[in-house]
Amino acid sequence: MIYRKLGATGMKAGVIGLGAEHLDRKPYAQVEEVVRTALEHDVNIIDCFMPGAEVRGNIGRALGKDRGKVLIQGHICSVDLNRQYDISRDPATCEKYFESLLADLGTDYIDIGMLFFVDTQEDFRDVFLTEIIDYARRLKKQGKIRAIGASSHNPETARRIVETGQVDVLMFSINPAFDMTPADVNVLNAIDGLFSTESFNGADPSRAELYRLCAGKNVAITVMKAFGSGKLLSAEHTPFAYPMTSAQCIHYALTRPAVASVLAGCKNRAEVLEAVNYLNATEKERDYSEVINTLKQSFHGQCMYCNHCLPCPAGIDIAAVTKYLDVALLDKDNIPASIVGHYLSLGARASDCEECGSCEKRCPFSVKIIDNMRVAKGLFRA
Ligand code: SF4
Ligand code: SF4
Repeated sequence: MIYRKLGATGMKAGVIGLGAEHLDRKPYAQVEEVVRTALEHDVNIIDCFMPGAEVRGNIGRALGKDRGKVLIQGHICSVDLNRQYDISRDPATCEKYFESLLADLGTDYIDIGMLFFVDTQEDFRDVFLTEIIDYARRLKKQGKIRAIGASSHNPETARRIVETGQVDVLMFSINPAFDMTPADVNVLNAIDGLFSTESFNGADPSRAELYRLCAGKNVAITVMKAFGSGKLLSAEHTPFAYPMTSAQCIHYALTRPAVASVLAGCKNRAEVLEAVNYLNATEKERDYSEVINTLKQSFHGQCMYCNHCLPCPAGIDIAAVTKYLDVALLDKDNIPASIVGHYLSLGARASDCEECGSCEKRCPFSVKIIDNMRVAKGLFRA
């Protein structure tokens, strides 16, 4: 497993985590198989947003004495009062469900207390301008959660969340199809059938800007919907000319700025093994650039951090340099120290660029790499 820092929390999460949604209403033996397989492969982060006592109890039982080895993302405001996966913003109800989460899992703390499903501006108001955020802060003070997070599918609301400075972790839906979806389109509806090329008009900047904002503010992103609920893996449903593999989807998400972990939803041992097999995949197997480039011009001129342009004779990790450059360009006069530190720790930097141009011939997205290297060299002075 490869572990990445979870922002400023002091915790580290494996790049492959487990999303437990598909374990809901499943027998204990199946839950145990999935959780134990994940643990055997050093997965150390599990998301549990489901409000049902049975699945929470099954996960807690499967973790057993290994609970301390994993980071649990548990959700505040996730309830099942009226129907499956309901949401409540009533403080007393949220408290009741959070306390039962602890009891069901058999633990006295949750590593990341996620404020659940903050998608609309009304959600934002009902969570961040009410007693709900006070409750989350109180839980953190009491040691019942180690960090505050929030989950969202909407880039504009997520941006507002990050700008509050109240969250350490953002759970966000990331895949290349969503990254082309305009901010005002509900991606969950898109998953339900509107994945069509007509709805795409190039990469939408709002998501890319969100990822850079998170990187600049040291807010870690944990990823949901990396496979677009399986649609990107399906020849029938993908918006691209052919389906992606799970390794390509995972790699796409992991190469966005600020992303720490992809939480793969798995319902059996085989799916866990497929997800962790990402770690054994070759660079060629991970390369998503050709698939997503089948939607012509969609990403033209925009770096997708795929590193299809390598090898560089100067040894520059072009995707990494461009990623740090993109974050720095958000506010050139106030580049976050962490980004400067990451950039300076690279083995080769933009100042090493020999302007040979070989990378530009290989870039499937026609990125002006030499220009980017010049800008990076000027901004970082290295
Ligand atoms: S410059 Fe092009 S090939 Fe290189 S990482 Fe960016 S998009 Fe990929
Ligand atoms: S132009 Fe610069 S970054 Fe691109 S391959 Fe040549 S040396 Fe590397």
